[in-house]
Amino acid sequence: MTIVLASNNAGKIAELKSLLPAGIKLITMTEAGYLKRIEEPFNSFRENAYAKAKALFEFTGLPTLSDDSGICVEALDGKPGVHSARYAGPEASDDANNQKLLRALGNYENRAAYYFAALCFIRPGGLHYFEGRCDGHIGRRPKGNRGFGYDPIFLPEGYEQSFAELSPEIKSRISHRAKALQQFISFLNRLPDSANSST
Ligand code: IMP
Repeated sequence: MTIVLASNNAGKIAELKSLLPAGIKLITMTEAGYLKRIEEPFNSFRENAYAKAKALFEFTGLPTLSDDSGICVEALDGKPGVHSARYAGPEASDDANNQKLLRALGNYENRAAYYFAALCFIRPGGLHYFEGRCDGHIGRRPKGNRGFGYDPIFLPEGYEQSFAELSPEIKSRISHRAKALQQFISFLNRLPDSANSST
C-alpha cells in the first residue's frame, strides 16, 4: 500500500519510515507535490492531525497518514502541548524551544512531562485515529545528540538518559509515536487484503 505522509518534519518522517512494515511505501507531502503550509490552529492533537491528513487526502486521493504530536509539561499546565513545534516562535529551532522550556521550568521540583502523538489515517471511505503517550520528566540541561525536538531534555520513565542519549531501538519501543503506530499497524493487518494491497 502507498501511504502519503502529511508531514515535513524530518525527525518524524525518519521515525515513521523506520517503524512501518517494508510492504508500505511512504511518500512525503513534498514528494506528493503538496508545497503549501497546512495551518494547525486547533487546541487538540486530534483536530490538528485531522486538518493535515484531510488536506493531503483531498489533494492526492491516496490513503494519508498524519502525526500531530508534542510535549506536555505538568507544572506548565500542559504547555507547550499543541504549540510544541513553535513554542519559542514561528520558525523556532529545536534548541530555542528546549532553552525556552528549561527557562520556563527554572528550578521547579515537579518536572513531570509526557509526549503525546495523535495519528490520523484517512482512506477512501474511512477515518481513523491512533494515539500514544510516553511519560517521563524534563531534565536540568540538554543531553545527547540523537532524535529531534525535545529529545535532549526528555527522560522517559524508567531511564536516567534522555531520548537523545538512548538508542533508537529503545525509543522505537516506548515512544508516544511508536505506541500509536503499533495500533495503526495492527489496524492495517486486520484490513481485508484488497484494502491492504499495493495501489
Ligand atoms: P507538529 O508538527 O505540530 O506535530 O509538531 C510536533 C513537535 O512536537 C515537534 O516539532 C517537536 O518539537 C515535538 N515532538 C513531537 N514528537 C517528538 C519526539 O518524538 N521527540 C522530540 N520532540 C517531539
